[in-house]
Amino acid sequence: MTDSDRETPLAAVWFGPGSGFDLSPQHRPELGPGEVLVRVELATLCGRDLHIIAGHRRIPLPAVLGHEAVGVVEETGGTVRLVDGRPVTPGTRVSWTVGTSCGTCRGCVRGVPQQCESVLTYGHESITGRWRLNGTLATHCHLLPGTGLVAVPDSLPAEVVSPANCATATVVCAVRRTAVGPGDRVVVIGCGMLGLTAVAYARERGAEHVVACDKDEKRRRLALAFGASAVCPPSELSRFTTRHGADVVLELSGDSRAVQSALDVVGPAGRVALVGSMSFGRRVSFRPDTFVRNLSQVVGCHSYTATDLAEAIGFLARTPARDLFAALVSQPLPLTALDVAVAAVRRGLAPRTAVHMRRLGERVGAARGPAASAGSSGPPV
Ligand SMILES: [Zn+2]
Ligand SMILES: [Zn+2]
Repeated sequence: MTDSDRETPLAAVWFGPGSGFDLSPQHRPELGPGEVLVRVELATLCGRDLHIIAGHRRIPLPAVLGHEAVGVVEETGGTVRLVDGRPVTPGTRVSWTVGTSCGTCRGCVRGVPQQCESVLTYGHESITGRWRLNGTLATHCHLLPGTGLVAVPDSLPAEVVSPANCATATVVCAVRRTAVGPGDRVVVIGCGMLGLTAVAYARERGAEHVVACDKDEKRRRLALAFGASAVCPPSELSRFTTRHGADVVLELSGDSRAVQSALDVVGPAGRVALVGSMSFGRRVSFRPDTFVRNLSQVVGCHSYTATDLAEAIGFLARTPARDLFAALVSQPLPLTALDVAVAAVRRGLAPRTAVHMRRLGERVGAARGPAASAGSSGPPV
């Protein structure tokens, strides 16, 4: 690595609700064993970032926000391996898990690293003496041991892959836990980033029929483009599933009325994944006898495993809907215009708002897909 490559990292440090971002130079970290320094190529802001910025979700401060990104490895602390076992080398383009996992606690050992007792989540921790580049709204991200790294093909546009370690991998987890497969009749509730991804992924897994439900007409039109065989507003969902009920219901909106609908429309031997309900919501009711007779299953899905992330990258690399995914992400704004980017997320201009890390005069990198502004009237999910 040349001296010009060893540029001083810049991070957008955030001091809490009501304050802006302070773009400040940071020390380039001396990497410990198992650590990785990634040069961030593109980051995307999602609804979770917005919740934090709005003060609805408290995190320790000051912090570097952002958890979605794609980047290129600049340095490693000793030998570090990708999820597939290959070594990580400088120049490897990567996506990484939003959280670390220790690999030894009860949650990790039982295959749910999302529940790791010592999890550290990028974009959700305060900056410390040596771990300051711990969010993706920075030119570099300092990855700790226990982070799952997945190689990203150069052919995959940055705007397509950046949300993979949030939306796509979470959908993969939900689809895995509900075993969506050939012949299934699937209902997807909520057609933001996760819902549209779920429609395309369920189709790829062989789902025979995918009903996409959203109150917003533009989102319903998008769902059709992503492969839904039928779309409907929430008020008409039961009409679309009355005869047999759904084999799988993926609830991605978090609206408690939608959760109620999910439990109401699942059919015999059906599976329900609750994904969207991340914050406190009102209670819902169900008839236990119906669930017993129908052998129904309900699973909660929060985050994902490193293997789910690898599958998410694979899916994005092979999906014929790649251009549609690209169009869900805004034209990238520079890190210096973060306040503008946050305002764009707030206005719901696109399911994802992108932030690039190019310095002044730096050449524009990967080719972009079709123009942004797929359109969405509600908050992104
Ligand atoms: Zn996210
Ligand atoms: Zn653990």
